[in-house]
Amino acid sequence: MTGGQSRGPAIHVGALERSYGELRVLRGVDFEVARGSIFALLGANGAGKTTIVKILSTLLRSDAGTATVNGFDVAMQPAEVRESISLTGQFAAVDEILTGRENLLLMARLRRVKDAGRTTDGLLARFQLTDAARRRVVTYSGGMRRRLDIAMSLIGNPPVIFLDEPTTGLDPQGRIEVWNSVKELAGQGVSVLLTTQYLGEAEQLADRIAILHDGRIIANGTLAELKQLLPPAKVEYVEKQPSLEDVFLAVVGATGQTPTPATEASAPTSKEQR
Ligand code: ATP
Repeated sequence: MTGGQSRGPAIHVGALERSYGELRVLRGVDFEVARGSIFALLGANGAGKTTIVKILSTLLRSDAGTATVNGFDVAMQPAEVRESISLTGQFAAVDEILTGRENLLLMARLRRVKDAGRTTDGLLARFQLTDAARRRVVTYSGGMRRRLDIAMSLIGNPPVIFLDEPTTGLDPQGRIEVWNSVKELAGQGVSVLLTTQYLGEAEQLADRIAILHDGRIIANGTLAELKQLLPPAKVEYVEKQPSLEDVFLAVVGATGQTPTPATEASAPTSKEQR
């Protein structure tokens, strides 16, 4: 078996091209993901993020260019690539009829993990799902489902994980829960390729961020490097209208101890106090 060395980048993409009929979605995409890092691929709807993830996970062939995952060529060594990865999509692929624990056990058995029960219980604890472990997934919140999905993707210890828009459709609380799970993954040394439309998500999670636009990567760097692409922050004078709070403080006085005639007039009468 060639490739699969633990040296070299987790993912390498060079001059990647892909069209759907006349639509040229990828027009020469280049990037690398360092081992043990979180790399965010940003792009508008339809930019081609999922197309890249599908090529890297061997679900789709490219028209031109090269791509390796964990040192294996996606076109020449698809079986080795599949053994190296796990893919979590926009819609959690968990079975709603089963409990959280049963979902994990099923995956552990499918992947022929030796101590399936212990692996399952360890993952439930790591993703704060122990209390809900014996409840059917149909009763879980969106955030819990995604956390379970990410936990399932860790079974078998794949070195590379693709998270394709993992927080789409979640509320802010669910999003934070998933972010914590992704940070947990990176803490274990897993390499993560994350696609997202949420800029704040990339800011929160990614070691490096690439922007896909018009079929190419038009920016690639750390958050600090990307911020340097803009002119330095400048101080601007903005006229501010007084808020109700400003009016209130001006009327009652900042200490609130010197009532003005207006506030005296609105004070309750002795009759009302009785
Ligand atoms: P989103 O953020 O909406 O998921 P994306 O960046 O992941 O978008 P892709 O799903 O890769 O984008 O799609 C890129 C473009 O290719 C879109 O214009 C899409 O309509 C088109 N496309 C994707 N799959 C096919 C297909 N099987 N046949 C034809 N066109 C396709």
